[in-house]
Amino acid sequence: MKRECAVFRDLKEDWQDGMVEAETAEWMAAHQMSCPLCRDWSEKEQNRAEQQPELPIDEKESLELETIKKARRFLAVGIGMIALFLIWVSIWLYI
Ligand SMILES: [Zn+2]
Repeated sequence: MKRECAVFRDLKEDWQDGMVEAETAEWMAAHQMSCPLCRDWSEKEQNRAEQQPELPIDEKESLELETIKKARRFLAVGIGMIALFLIWVSIWLYI
C-alpha cells in the first residue's frame, strides 16, 4: 500500500466528519478521485458502515447485554409463574 493510501484510510472517518483541515479535505477528495484502490475501499467501508451501524461491542458491554437478557428471561419466567399461580387460585376459588 502506498503511503498516501494509508494516510487516506486513516483520515477517512475524520474527513467525513469534517474534522480535518480544508487543505487535508482537498487532498482527500483529490486522492479519492485519482486512486481507484481507495475509491473501492471507501465504497466497501461505506457499505460495511451501513450494514453495521452499531459500534463493535466490547467485552464489558456484551457482558452487560447478557445480564440484561438473563434478567429479562428471569422476569418473563417470573410473570409466567405468577400468571399460572393466579389461574390455579381462581380455579380453586370457582370450584
Ligand atoms: Zn489510495
